[in-house]
Amino acid sequence: MNMANGSDNLDIHAIEKKWQDWWEREEIYRFDPKSERPVFSIDNPPRYASGRLHAGHAVHYTHIDFVARYKRMRGYNVFFPLCFDVNGMPIEVNVEKKYGIRMREHDRHKFIKLCEDFAEENMEEMKRQFKVLGESMDPSIYYQTDSPDYRRLTQISFIKLFKRGEIYKGDYPVNWCPRCGTALYDAEVEYKKNLTNLNYIKFRVKETGEPLIIATTRPELLATCQLVAVNPSDERASTLVGKKAVTPIYGREIPIVADEKVDPDFGTGVVMICTIGDKDDLQWVFKYGLKLEKGINEEGRMTEITGPLSGLTIKEARERIIQILKERDLLLKQEEIEQNIGVCWRCGTPIEFIHKKQWFLKTLEHREAILRMADEIKWYPEFMKTRLVDWVNSLSWDWVISRQRYFATPIPVWECENCGYILPAEEEQCYIDPTVTPPPVEKCPKCGGTLKGSEEVFDTWMDSSITPLYNTFWGRDEGMHKRLFPMSLRPQSHDIIRTWAFYTMLRSYLLTGKKPWEEIMMGGFILAPDGTPMHTSKGNVIDPLEIKEEYGTDPIRYFAAMCTLGKDSPFRLKDVKRGKQIIIKMWNIMRLVARCYEGIASRTLMELVRKSPEDIPLHTIDKWLLTHYSRMVKTATESADRYEFDKVVRAASDFLWHTLADNYLEAVKYRIYSEKDPAVIYTLYNVTFGLMKIFAPFMPHITEEIYQRCFRSLEEVKSIHLTLWPTPILEDPVATDKGEKIFEMISAVRRWKNTERIPLGEEITAVSIAGDISLNAEEMRDFKEAVRARQVRAARIEDLKETILDIKLKFNLLGPVYKEKTSEITRFVKEGRWREQREYLAKGFIKVPVKGEDVTVPEDYFEVVKGWTLEGRDVNKVKAGSTLLLIEK
Ligand SMILES: [Zn+2]
Ligand SMILES: [Zn+2]
Repeated sequence: MNMANGSDNLDIHAIEKKWQDWWEREEIYRFDPKSERPVFSIDNPPRYASGRLHAGHAVHYTHIDFVARYKRMRGYNVFFPLCFDVNGMPIEVNVEKKYGIRMREHDRHKFIKLCEDFAEENMEEMKRQFKVLGESMDPSIYYQTDSPDYRRLTQISFIKLFKRGEIYKGDYPVNWCPRCGTALYDAEVEYKKNLTNLNYIKFRVKETGEPLIIATTRPELLATCQLVAVNPSDERASTLVGKKAVTPIYGREIPIVADEKVDPDFGTGVVMICTIGDKDDLQWVFKYGLKLEKGINEEGRMTEITGPLSGLTIKEARERIIQILKERDLLLKQEEIEQNIGVCWRCGTPIEFIHKKQWFLKTLEHREAILRMADEIKWYPEFMKTRLVDWVNSLSWDWVISRQRYFATPIPVWECENCGYILPAEEEQCYIDPTVTPPPVEKCPKCGGTLKGSEEVFDTWMDSSITPLYNTFWGRDEGMHKRLFPMSLRPQSHDIIRTWAFYTMLRSYLLTGKKPWEEIMMGGFILAPDGTPMHTSKGNVIDPLEIKEEYGTDPIRYFAAMCTLGKDSPFRLKDVKRGKQIIIKMWNIMRLVARCYEGIASRTLMELVRKSPEDIPLHTIDKWLLTHYSRMVKTATESADRYEFDKVVRAASDFLWHTLADNYLEAVKYRIYSEKDPAVIYTLYNVTFGLMKIFAPFMPHITEEIYQRCFRSLEEVKSIHLTLWPTPILEDPVATDKGEKIFEMISAVRRWKNTERIPLGEEITAVSIAGDISLNAEEMRDFKEAVRARQVRAARIEDLKETILDIKLKFNLLGPVYKEKTSEITRFVKEGRWREQREYLAKGFIKVPVKGEDVTVPEDYFEVVKGWTLEGRDVNKVKAGSTLLLIEK
């Protein structure tokens, strides 16, 4: 074994680098499409190519890597692609920031090129990061979502659904980010609190000429005001309803209605309804059948119908209209209030509602089907399913799948500029960019008008919601698709249940009628050490590579393993440090274990360790260890099957540190060093090999190093990561109970040595065991060697006698009473002559001869120190459970 001789200094960084290169070279993690083994396929989240990974991403992907490595060791042919998401706004926004440019002021195709280059740079860096973090993703099944192959599939899936009527173009109000110039789906709208002015504006009742004060936060939308409403319980309702209100500045006459939805306590209890300022307005619009008027255009500027505000930005328009209202004495007062406003998830700009033709994918009518599908998928942790169910039940619109951006998959249609006729591309044509490729027919088949390629692109989720279809060769290789679909597992974070999980289920349902995966696993977030979510924009991110530089990758992965599935966890450096300690412990244990085999021929060793435990003369404590090991394997396997990796690592670490190192190894050192006992070799080989395998998915580098040094020469598999997950070896409850008692006795003696300040390795004379335990010769021997006693024997409690060990004079009392006799008394005690006076002592005094005369000293003047003797020898009494240990120093 390489470990015991020569170069065995532990250089974590060198070891990690060495194996990362070797795994890559040897293609250890390659998916084998020809293999007969069962497939375990992972719908790995394609990483956004928008920036470097922070510690949160690192932990997220490392969790997924645990699954891949575990399943490989369970004998699966694991499909775990390296992949990137290279589409959409995150990249565009970063490119705009990087170059200080605005997308719309730039040439479309030049801007796309900048996005591609930016993504390329990031992907190269992230591939390096993934490698350095020890992720076992397979580059042989690599994909990125902007490749023509991938986009082809996105387009084909669109064409199929369009032809089936599942996709339509509708004239609907949409959430709109004026900065990004694009429609947003509800899930992309975030909410934040902000302060704004509530403006009390003077309207007029047409019939009576009386003023009507209405409070609003959106005075710039006054031009589109079409209705005034009051709560029916309001006492003004009876006189107002049915009359008309006249809007200030614009002089428009609009109906006044009563509506339960008006909050009588907000502002003046009268509201103006515009088309459209916010989601509430939208409900009125539908209820009262109001005409959609466009006050704000796609660039976030006011339209012509706003008169004097036309061309201004929303902010400018608000200032301007307040100024006009003031000038005309139409503004009664302003109050500052806090409000919850919807903002763009990418850039934080308040969103607007505008109405614009958009592409929609029918969502609402498939809700029931999605909910049924959610029940067919196994959720880890289970409670995450509720989030999807709640979301599906709360949906009120279909999915807006079009975006007015550049860097994404183009919508493969041409539209007639005259009649709006839509001509989709043929599936065989895809991938195409209709802004570049001319339509297959020259003129609109309906009216003969000009056909123009769509400049719109798909929402990024249109690409990423077909990852399971792409991964399983849908539309490319039907045979493979049949074999691989549904995929085994979708791992993802819980913040994109409403988007990625939901859309994938919807697309899979519509395109295949089947669920996309058997299982879904939800990771939590990694919080900054202060407990807030880690965000690159907040500057509180931790760079995993910096931590790696100091501690190594395996310790970071140990921390990742300690994060509970589905829970948000703060970054804990102490776990990283603990991970490093465990590596060092493993290393030292393996050096000791390797000494067992020193000098034993491989063949002999192989025959020995492959035997069944019944054929080995195992000691009780060997059986104890093998049973504990087997129980740990069982726990670890059950937890890993539920993806609860923290429980796996906790069980393995506890076993390593306490059961194996503190207890067993200490007790069997003599059998390793001087006897090369086959029972110990058998036990240690199998237990440590299995233990290294359990650690392998989590700390792949150190376990590979140990495997190659200590086990590889006897095992046929070239990497520990291709070996099979261990199984229990022995379950012997009787031996385990007895072993428990033996170790209880061993720790009692060791604790006693500690309090007596005797080094653990120092020999003691004897330990006598009194109690209901009876040890056989082997057990006696193991116990004796473990506690370093020259002799161990059984004793009877009846033979134990209480005795006086010493007496201590109380000089402060003695002196004043016994005066000059004190020195004689002191000498008498010191010389131990009191020992001949046990009879007097039993009665509570001693007699000291001073100048021929006996002086009686009662117990008031001394203290008796009591102890125990066993057959006349002084012993210390130590309890170990129900057993009594009598120790002779
Ligand atoms: Zn935006
Ligand atoms: Zn036409």
